[in-house]
Amino acid sequence: MDCADCAARIERALRRVAGVESAHVSLGAGRATVVFDSARASEARMAQAVEALGYRVTGSRLSGQAPVGAAPRLYGIASGLFVVAVACAVLIGLAAERLGLIEAASRLVPAPVALAAVLIGGFPIFRKVFLTVRARTVTPHALMTLGIVGALIIGEYGAAAVIVFFMRFADFLEAYTAGRARQAIQELVALQPLEARVVRDGAEIDVPAAEVGAGETVLVKPGERIPVDGTIISGRASINQAPITGEAMPVLRAEGQAVLAATISLDGALQVRAEHVGADSTFGRILRLVEEAEARKSGAQRLADRVTAYYVPVVTGVAAAAWLIGGSASAAVAVLVVSCSCGIALATPVAVVAAVGSAARRGILIKGGAALEALARADILLLDKTGTLTMGRPQVTSVHPEGDRTPAEVLAIAAIAERYSEHPAAAAVMAAVGEAASWSAGNNEAATQVEVAPGRGVIVHEHGRQVVVGSQRLFVERDLPLPERLTGQAEALEAAGQTVLFVALDGLIAGTIAISDTPRPEAPEALRALRALGPKRIMVLTGDNARAAGAIADALGVECRAEMLPEDKIEVVRAFQAEGRVVAMVGDGINDAPALAQADVGIAMGDTGTAAALEAADVAIMRDDWRLVPEAVRISRGAFGVIRQNLYGTVAYNLTGITLAAVGLLPPVLAAAAQVIPDFLILLNSGRLLRSPRRSEAGAAPPRWGVGAQ
Ligand code: ADP
Ligand code: MG
Repeated sequence: MDCADCAARIERALRRVAGVESAHVSLGAGRATVVFDSARASEARMAQAVEALGYRVTGSRLSGQAPVGAAPRLYGIASGLFVVAVACAVLIGLAAERLGLIEAASRLVPAPVALAAVLIGGFPIFRKVFLTVRARTVTPHALMTLGIVGALIIGEYGAAAVIVFFMRFADFLEAYTAGRARQAIQELVALQPLEARVVRDGAEIDVPAAEVGAGETVLVKPGERIPVDGTIISGRASINQAPITGEAMPVLRAEGQAVLAATISLDGALQVRAEHVGADSTFGRILRLVEEAEARKSGAQRLADRVTAYYVPVVTGVAAAAWLIGGSASAAVAVLVVSCSCGIALATPVAVVAAVGSAARRGILIKGGAALEALARADILLLDKTGTLTMGRPQVTSVHPEGDRTPAEVLAIAAIAERYSEHPAAAAVMAAVGEAASWSAGNNEAATQVEVAPGRGVIVHEHGRQVVVGSQRLFVERDLPLPERLTGQAEALEAAGQTVLFVALDGLIAGTIAISDTPRPEAPEALRALRALGPKRIMVLTGDNARAAGAIADALGVECRAEMLPEDKIEVVRAFQAEGRVVAMVGDGINDAPALAQADVGIAMGDTGTAAALEAADVAIMRDDWRLVPEAVRISRGAFGVIRQNLYGTVAYNLTGITLAAVGLLPPVLAAAAQVIPDFLILLNSGRLLRSPRRSEAGAAPPRWGVGAQ
């Protein structure tokens, strides 16, 4: 396949096969994904439908056959060389004629030779055109074929041969460009683990990685690629996680810890209990998302599709007008010939595939053209605080009892409620309580009533007692009395960047617990880089108190809105969107999923490789490194710049070409040469996106930053 039109045609053909529910063809990946009823449709049927259009199916995941590259086509090469020779001779002849060296160009290349070059050299294209016309579609190639027929009819045999030459040349360029883009994906595919060594009935056997069952024991030797997502049962090793995270710096993993498929054990022998295999593994999902990136079309891509749809009828109309009204058959031929460039259709998929593919290798998963476009255009950047700007693993820093309670009692009371919460604050309390937590464990849970107040705290009724833990706001809302001494103290702690949790037992305040989270060290540098990329506003949204949030926002030099409930965050996103802004939101994808979903582009970062983040966001940052956020923005802006240039450039070029041809200023031979130029430019332009990723500066530890007591 060498243009988006090919992909669309194959898609339609596959959908027409009985039993096929849906089909998507990715030009970039060179792959069709089909959902079908295996009782009604067969692989052979589908392959037949594709081959009827003149394409070849080179393998499938179902039959386990690995895709093979097309064999070098002897006919293609031989006929190509013949056309090149004839076309050169014709062009030399034309030049010589102009210079008055010979009388007629046809002396150098007699008509029968030119005709032979047209028929032999043009055959691969004519065949494709015949097959597509039979399938009742008209492509730009069909127009050009019409142009060649026209040139033959008006007796310009040499010109027809030159047109065929440039047509083949453009085809080659387009195939080459699509192939280069595909490379970015293929490099990723090459990292896929193929084989696994499993223990079955006490014996070690090699099986395809996708056929390992969940729960099976997989053996990994030093230096080998881990074939599945799973947990280490025994052994320890330095693991290179670059295939997932883009980071080559190894991490140490030992018994009980998780490892991911496609990562490499550098120095240890491991036994791994398989959990997710093949397409279900994290790497499998990344691969699928990258391959399907093209399907999630951006506005620009949809525009290109619309343009392509109107293109053929418009061009045919112009050619007809040039002939019937302008009275010039030669101008009509030139119009048909100059318009053939497949560039419009090629312009966006190539850039999208190249950008998504190379981003994936750096640990940034961009889910398709739409996300790429939104990220490139985003002018408002919203940041979640907990888990995003900070590590999301706060720790208790101090406990302030009320009356004659002890700090241990305050923690123990808080733990009664926090046991039921998933919030990072709860984890901090539970860690501080440690062993003491066990005294309230073992209760019968049926007697427990848990109320979660999102963005405020938790309220638990248990054994006739009521425990409330949460923000000052929660206490105010529930009319729980707060002694002034505690609120004053809380304000001081908050001004130092801490979060204060209030604890009450049976409606009476027991004390407060201050917690503090570690800021992510590389965030300031990343935010500086982001600001330089030019979003209009960068703003922290948090449910935390205004003083703590303000302290962090000030340290980072960004705006801040604090004490926001989850629904307030969505409202902020909506309000900006109502002003016509494009909103990007960075969150951890766990407690801010709704706001991430509402944003034009949701970027999930945090404890990565998590299924939730991968599925919820438009862009997933696969490792804990803020620097990848500006990197993602840079990649998308680069790609979008290229897309815009490719798209508008080709449209402008073709319009000019068609106009010049229609009024007779562009003879057919020059028209044929002109239609190759956009393909060339697209190739060069998109090539900029395919440069290999820069090594991350892993060694340099970013400077520490933060506020108050950490
Ligand atoms: P963020 O926007 O920082 O992710 P949240 O909306 O999750 O914050 O929470 C906002 C505030 O609500 C916290 O700072 C805390 O004061 C309070 N809170 C939420 N859940 C709990 C909990 N389980 N225990 C105590 N306090 C909580
Ligand atoms: Mg959060």
